[in-house]
Amino acid sequence: MTKRAYKYRFYPTPEQADRLARTFGCMRFVYNSVLRWRTDAFFKEQQRVGYTQASARLTAIKKLPETAFLNEVSSVPLQQCLRHQQAAFKNFFEGRAKYPAFKSKKHRQSAEFTRSAFRYRDGKRFLAKCDEPLAIRWNRPLPCDPSTVTVSKDSAGRYFVSCLCEFEPEALPVTPKMIGIDLGLKDLFVTSEGERTGNPRHMAQYAARLALAQRRLSRKKLSSKNRLKARLKVARIHAKISDCRMDRLHKLSRRLINENQVVCVESLAVKNMIRNPKLSKAIADAGWGEFVRQLEYKGGWAGRQVVQIDRWYPSSKRCACCGHILERLPLDVRRWSCPECGSEHDRDVNAAINVKAVGLAVLALGENVSGMGQVPVSSAR
Ligand SMILES: [Zn+2]
Repeated sequence: MTKRAYKYRFYPTPEQADRLARTFGCMRFVYNSVLRWRTDAFFKEQQRVGYTQASARLTAIKKLPETAFLNEVSSVPLQQCLRHQQAAFKNFFEGRAKYPAFKSKKHRQSAEFTRSAFRYRDGKRFLAKCDEPLAIRWNRPLPCDPSTVTVSKDSAGRYFVSCLCEFEPEALPVTPKMIGIDLGLKDLFVTSEGERTGNPRHMAQYAARLALAQRRLSRKKLSSKNRLKARLKVARIHAKISDCRMDRLHKLSRRLINENQVVCVESLAVKNMIRNPKLSKAIADAGWGEFVRQLEYKGGWAGRQVVQIDRWYPSSKRCACCGHILERLPLDVRRWSCPECGSEHDRDVNAAINVKAVGLAVLALGENVSGMGQVPVSSAR
């Protein structure tokens, strides 16, 4: 059993929007004031505050007359945000993250409701202290009763519920097909079979509109109504770009996983080694990281193998036919012919074929692959 989040858009009534805005506001207040208190304890008195103490602090704050407004919203999200803060501190103390930051009103807001804080009646979902059900667009059915419901509002002003459900992944029937892919910019990826995906460059497509909206925003008077409206416009363009990108990545990763038993890909650590500062915007726009993440989890659910090649390996410069390795191959050379065996190569397809060969060798032989240099692999499942 794994857990999976099902996310739906919903349209709150004015009362619900108001109630949610207050919930988000109270959470921010609790999060930030407890964070300030913990920060003082940590830096002035060198004391680490645990979750129990933070929770006790919340109880104390709620009893104060000047902060009695905290009692008007459901207590569960307030408690949950301190749990998240605890996780943030844990990540900080264990060296995985920076020191927890204060929450801002301008960013995405979210509130987590556990099972005790929402109801499900006649196919309708109710949140604690809300009388009307949420108007959710059920674009797909929910498989079971969720254990947690997260309500969020993004910076473009859209509302979503994300329901965390138990889910039994179903392995797809085994297929003999195996594939190597070379992630790139001109095409999101090129396969060892010569298929090219193209790259719509969503960011570049909306760049002019975004620049215009940002220019207009910068001219608006600080903290005015018009500035708020202009900021929403900018956020909507950003949301549009990221929606387009995600939609495409999901479709492509789903197809690769459905069609192939094994997908071999160079890990991003390797890809980043060749990262060029001039291209970093384009790389971020292409969404390599998200794409590999999707391949991994979808592969895991479907019983497919996603092999990530972790060690640098001359995939572009090696001839896939005879193994000859070129001294150098500048980035602008898209086609080349091998001086040893005379084969004509497309740069990316040749690289993808090499990635596939290394990936399959890694799968068959385990850690070390003779004749190909040392190619340890981390996440071959
Ligand atoms: Zn050759």
